[in-house]
Amino acid sequence: MPLNETPILELRQIVKRFRLPRRRLNRPTRVVHAVNKVNLSINLGETLALVGESGCGKTTLGRCAIRLYQPTEGSVLFRGIDVTETRGIGLHPFRKSVQMVFQDPNSSLNPRMQAASIIEEPMQIHQLGNRAFCRERVAEAMDAVGLSRQFSNRYPHEFSGGERQRIAIARTLVLEPDLIIADEPVSALDVSIQSQVLNLFADLREQRGLALLFITHDLAVVNFIADRVAVMYLGRIVEIANRDVLLREPHHPYSQALRAAVPKPGAGKRQSRKVLVGSSPDPTSPPRGCPFHPLCPKAQTICKEIEPVLESVGGNVNHQAACHFK
Ligand code: SF4
Repeated sequence: MPLNETPILELRQIVKRFRLPRRRLNRPTRVVHAVNKVNLSINLGETLALVGESGCGKTTLGRCAIRLYQPTEGSVLFRGIDVTETRGIGLHPFRKSVQMVFQDPNSSLNPRMQAASIIEEPMQIHQLGNRAFCRERVAEAMDAVGLSRQFSNRYPHEFSGGERQRIAIARTLVLEPDLIIADEPVSALDVSIQSQVLNLFADLREQRGLALLFITHDLAVVNFIADRVAVMYLGRIVEIANRDVLLREPHHPYSQALRAAVPKPGAGKRQSRKVLVGSSPDPTSPPRGCPFHPLCPKAQTICKEIEPVLESVGGNVNHQAACHFK
């Protein structure tokens, strides 16, 4: 199916820094540079996977995108309208249209509420329709995620991990969002049920035309769900391309390392999942030049001096990488 190239969400030059508490008096405050000048757009109906190791800034970027975090610099545009500084009632249409699914359904669901009430709660907050209308939409959402309506009165602890994540997804669907930001939505689940939840996302996207920002550390998942892939390292996008191009011919040495870490079918349990040898740079004092140079097997002198910018690879404007060597 050809993709609609109208952006639903645009992130422009997003920067997010966090101040860490001082360890001792008269020591300077340390600042974590979590996201550094990221530009990214998600088109209507598109699934964009944001991939990187833990601590690379992908969750922080997702939270800036949904305005859970206020960006330190930069702009968030929804359907072409800048919502970076919008607050209060003016932000309601955005809050309704852009929803988030978190990594751990155990901590994102209120243990004292029954499943139906958890799913219905966002409709109460947005004051959508009367009780009968809300109840009917809750039942439809439960159908859509494959949960029996008979389980409406159960509490979260009475469900399996996969079912709890389905409740979390149903809770977003009742608002009929245009975009879901899913932050590692399967990484807390058993391998046996990860594919069920991935299938659910794929079906919802197909049936409802949802756009999806799928945040994951696992490049193997990307193959199943994404149209495009953005690879993040130390707060920066280092490569972005269509899924097939990125999985077949990753250009950036970090993307190549991620692909090399994907387990091969039949290779057994002993294969290593470690992406790189060596320790990652400290995000409170990122290295000069290319942020990947301390670990890069292809680093040259220029890499320690000048930071590369995202540029097209081989004349393909849809494939960009931040590396001096094209
Ligand atoms: Fe490696 Fe240099 Fe390319 Fe950075 S710019 S990824 S250090 S080769």
